[in-house]
Amino acid sequence: MALRLDTPLSDLTKVGKMTSSRLKRLGLDTVEDLLFFLPTRYEDYSKITPLAEVHEGLETTVEGIVQLISAKRTSRKRMLLTQALLHDGDGYLRLIWFNQPYIAKQLEQGVEIRCSGKVDQDGSGLVMRNPQYELADRPPVHTGRLLPVYPLTDGLTNKQLRFLQTQAAEAISEMVDWMPPEAMSAHDLIPLADALAAVHFPDSMEAAEAGRRRMYFGDLLLMHLHTLNVREKNRAAKARKVSFKDDVAKEFVESLPWSLTGDQKRALWSVFQDIGEGAPMNRLLEGDVGSGKTVVAAGAMHHVASAGHQAVLMAPTSILAEQHFETLSKLFSPFVMRIGLVTGSAVAVSGQGERTNLKKKDAPDIGVTADILVGTHALFSESMKYRSIGLAVIDEQHRFGVGQRKALVSKNPDSLTPHLLSMTATPIPRTLSLTVFGDLDISVLKEKPANRQPVETSVLHGAAVSGAYNSIKKAVSEGRQAFVICPLIEESETMQSKAALVEAERLKEEVFPDLRIETLHGKMKPAEKDEVMGRMSDGKIDVLVCTSLVEVGIDIPNATHMLIEGAERFGLAQLHQFRGRIGRGEHGSVCFLRSDSRGPETMQRLKLLETTSDGFYLAEKDLEIRGPGTMIGKAQSGFGTLSAKLFSDPRLIEQTREEAEKLYPLIKEEKNTLLTQKLEQLSAQILLS
Ligand code: ADP
Ligand code: MG
Repeated sequence: MALRLDTPLSDLTKVGKMTSSRLKRLGLDTVEDLLFFLPTRYEDYSKITPLAEVHEGLETTVEGIVQLISAKRTSRKRMLLTQALLHDGDGYLRLIWFNQPYIAKQLEQGVEIRCSGKVDQDGSGLVMRNPQYELADRPPVHTGRLLPVYPLTDGLTNKQLRFLQTQAAEAISEMVDWMPPEAMSAHDLIPLADALAAVHFPDSMEAAEAGRRRMYFGDLLLMHLHTLNVREKNRAAKARKVSFKDDVAKEFVESLPWSLTGDQKRALWSVFQDIGEGAPMNRLLEGDVGSGKTVVAAGAMHHVASAGHQAVLMAPTSILAEQHFETLSKLFSPFVMRIGLVTGSAVAVSGQGERTNLKKKDAPDIGVTADILVGTHALFSESMKYRSIGLAVIDEQHRFGVGQRKALVSKNPDSLTPHLLSMTATPIPRTLSLTVFGDLDISVLKEKPANRQPVETSVLHGAAVSGAYNSIKKAVSEGRQAFVICPLIEESETMQSKAALVEAERLKEEVFPDLRIETLHGKMKPAEKDEVMGRMSDGKIDVLVCTSLVEVGIDIPNATHMLIEGAERFGLAQLHQFRGRIGRGEHGSVCFLRSDSRGPETMQRLKLLETTSDGFYLAEKDLEIRGPGTMIGKAQSGFGTLSAKLFSDPRLIEQTREEAEKLYPLIKEEKNTLLTQKLEQLSAQILLS
C-alpha cells in the first residue's frame, strides 16, 4: 500500500494501539502531521571513525564485523550484560549493552554493523556502552548520520520516531508547495518537499538549518496572513457606534473610590475610541492578577449602557460570574442601571445596589430589560433574548471563540456585531502578540493599583511541608484563611476531583484536626461550588482544598496563605496566577510551592517565582521552556511547527510580517489560488479545533 499524506499513522509499520494513542497525544494523527513534527535539535553521528583511531570521549559512528558476542548476568547487580567485539580490519572496539537481552539474539558472529555512541574507558580499555546499531548494509536511520531529536512525551522514543519518519518520507513528494516562487527567491528559501526531507534526513547541519528556516518561515507567514484576513473580515463587519461622551466618562471615573492608574486610563481611552467606530472592536486587555481589569471593562460597559445599549460580561464559572455581579452592582449603584445575572444556577437582578433573586424562567426577560448582564455561557443559551448588545466582555480568556461570536450576533435583533473585549491575566509575550494574537488590538495593564503587596513565595520538598502547615495553622489562629491547590492530574477531571477529596480528608485527619476544611473541585455542581465559595467568602472555611479551578479570578482578601502541591506540573504563569488569589488584602501573604521533583531544571524554574512577581517575565520564561502550547491552547492548532523556537527569532517574525503584507492583496483579489486555498484550509482547521 502506498503511503499518502492523509494515511492514518495507525497504518504504519510497528504502530499499535499504544503507540498510536501516544502519537495522538502529541497531536499526530496522519502522515502529514508526522512530517510537520520537527526535530528540536540534531546529534551529529555522520562521521565514521576507523576503529584504530577512536579515543576516549569521542562521540562517533564506527563500522565493523561482530567477532564475539555473549550475554551473561552480572553477579553483583544481577544485570544482563551483552558484550561484543567489533573489528574493522585494523582495530578493535568492545561494545556493551545493559539489560537488552534481544541484542544477543539479533546479532551474531560475522555480521557487519554500524554503531553510534560515545567511546569510554574502563578497566579493560576502550568501550562503547549502549550504542545504537544497525546492519551496515541497511540505509542509515539510527546511526551514521545527523540524528534528529524530537520533542517527545512519555512512552515514545526517538528511535521510534525516526523509524516512522523514514516510512512517512514516501509521502513527501505528494506535498504541494503553496509558497509563491517570488517569496521563495526573495528570502532564499528552499521548496517545501526539500525542506521536509532536510529537517528529518539532513546531509549536513547547513541543510537541516535551511530546511528548518523554510518551515518556520512558512508557518509564520501563514499565521500573519491568517490574522490579516481575520482583521480584514472584522473591519468589514458592522457594529454599533457608541460615541465618546466626555461627561459620561467623567461621571464614571468620579464615582470610583480611587483614581485610575495610568495604564487603566490608557486602556479605557483606547476602548472608547474603538467603540466609537462603526467596525467592531476586537481588543484584548491583559494584566496581571490584581491589576484592575474589571474597572476598565466596567467603564466601557457604563458608556455603552448610557448610550441606551446593553453590555454583557461573560465569566468562565458561575462563582466568578457571581463575584462580577456583586462588584458591578456596587460600582454602578450610583447610577440608574439594571444589572442582570444569568448563570446555570441563578438568575438575579440588581439596581442601586439592591439584589433580587429571580426564577430561571425570568432569564430571557432580564436579557431584554437589563442594561448590564453578567453570567456564564448560559448567557448564550437558546432561550436567551436581548434588546441590543453593544459590547461583550469575556473574562479570563484570550479571545472570543468563533461560536460565541456567532451566537452574540444572532442574538442581536438587528444582527450587528457587538464590540468585543477579552480579558486575560496571562501575559502574552511580544512575539506571540505579533503573530498568534495579531488579529487583536492589545491593551496592557502593567502598573498595579497602589496598596498591593507582593506574595512571599518559597519552594519546598517532601517533609519540609510541615513548615507550611504550621504557617497555615498560625495564620488561621489569627483569623486568616488558606488555599491548598492539588496537583494537576492529566487523565481526567474525575481523578483530579477524587484526589482533592482524598487530600482534604487526609488534611482533616492528620494535619488540621481543629480546622474547618472544605473542598472545591470540577465534579461539583455549579450551585455547590457557589455555596462553597460563599462560605469561603464569609469566613466560614479555614482551609479550602481546590483543584486548579481556583485559577479564575475569585477575590477573597482575607485569604493569605496558599500551598500548591505538585507545583512542578504547572507552568510558571499559571502558578503566578494561582498565587494572585492571595495577597489581595492588607495582611502579608505567603505561597508555598511544593515540588515532587528536585531536578535542577525544575528547581531553577520554580525558584524564579521566589524572586520575581513580574508576570510578563514569567510568561516569557514559560514560552522559552515549555513552548506556546499552554498559552495558545487548541485554538491555533492549524499550524504545524508551533514550538517555542518558532517565536524566538524576532527578525524572522518581522520578515514574515512584511512578506504577508505584500502577499495579502493577492489573496484578497483572489489572484493566487494555491495560497488562498492553503489559507482557507488553515482557517477551517482553526475553526474546527
Ligand atoms: P484583575 O485584573 O485581577 O481582574 P480586579 O479588577 O479584580 O483585578 O481588581 C483587583 C482589585 O483592585 C479590586 O479589588 C479592585 O477594586 C482594585 N482596584 C482596581 N483598580 C484600582 C485602582 N486604580 N486603585 C485602587 N484599587 C484598584
Ligand atoms: Mg479579574
